[in-house]
Amino acid sequence: MKSLMRELLTRVLLFTGVAMAIRAMFWRDRAAILLYHDPTPATLDAHLQYLKDKVDFIPLSQISAPGNGRPRAAITFDDGHAGNAELLPVFIKHGVHPTIYICSSIVAHERTHWWLHPIAKDAGVKRLIRMRNGERLAELNAKGFYQDQLNGEAKVSGLSSEQIQAMRPFVDFQSHTRFHPTLTCCEDEECAEELIGSKAEVERLIGRPCEHFAYPYGIYGSREVAILKAAGYKTGRTTDVGWNDERSDPFRLKAFDIEDDSSVPWFAVQLTGLTLMPRYLRLGRVRRLGARLFNKPGSLKQAQ
Ligand SMILES: [Zn+2]
Repeated sequence: MKSLMRELLTRVLLFTGVAMAIRAMFWRDRAAILLYHDPTPATLDAHLQYLKDKVDFIPLSQISAPGNGRPRAAITFDDGHAGNAELLPVFIKHGVHPTIYICSSIVAHERTHWWLHPIAKDAGVKRLIRMRNGERLAELNAKGFYQDQLNGEAKVSGLSSEQIQAMRPFVDFQSHTRFHPTLTCCEDEECAEELIGSKAEVERLIGRPCEHFAYPYGIYGSREVAILKAAGYKTGRTTDVGWNDERSDPFRLKAFDIEDDSSVPWFAVQLTGLTLMPRYLRLGRVRRLGARLFNKPGSLKQAQ
């Protein structure tokens, strides 16, 4: 059923010219941030080939620069998956200088991103994401998973320090916290440690300033923005769907969360933003309701 809906939507949006019209109307002079996690080289190559003559590829650091009359795209990856190392030839082939937001206490260590570990999968990742951070860690500890250990025979899931060093001339490495908690479920000290501690760890690992941040699950509130600003970050990327221009709030950058295994037509459909809109509207409703109830706009937790 889902694939049938997808096929129909793809045909309607691509063959009626809606996708092209949206690009002409909204992307026009703006910058899209594409968000991937762990795509294969072949998939990413096909996506970049499709985009090549339609948009200019820009580094994330130029996201707030004034428009040049052309649609622009910054390519980003979250988490720092080991598989990202295989993408290097694709970046070089297409002249793309991507940003990889790394979990700084997972990459370059013999550790596993917590939600990829069998113990977390068995316990239910979706439920764990919504728990208070201390309770989540206590439950995982009780079941035998510690976020700062390899935990038996588990697979190392992050980029190694050798891989990071090899990619360093071609890739901009930035922060995605230390261990990937849900920030709005953290106590103040835990949140500060994840944002400030990660900045220091990325800088130690890369030897360059760490100034950009991506919120895990795209979930954030006004406390997270305030800590990022105080720590010296310049931007924060959400998963709210939309394009960016020089008037965009740099700590609430919008993005297109692309499914890693998208065919080229499905990729083109996702770039209209229409398939991502329902989730965005749901998030908007949660925020507005929170603001009404508590009269503190932006300070409330977002649902995923
Ligand atoms: Zn993530």
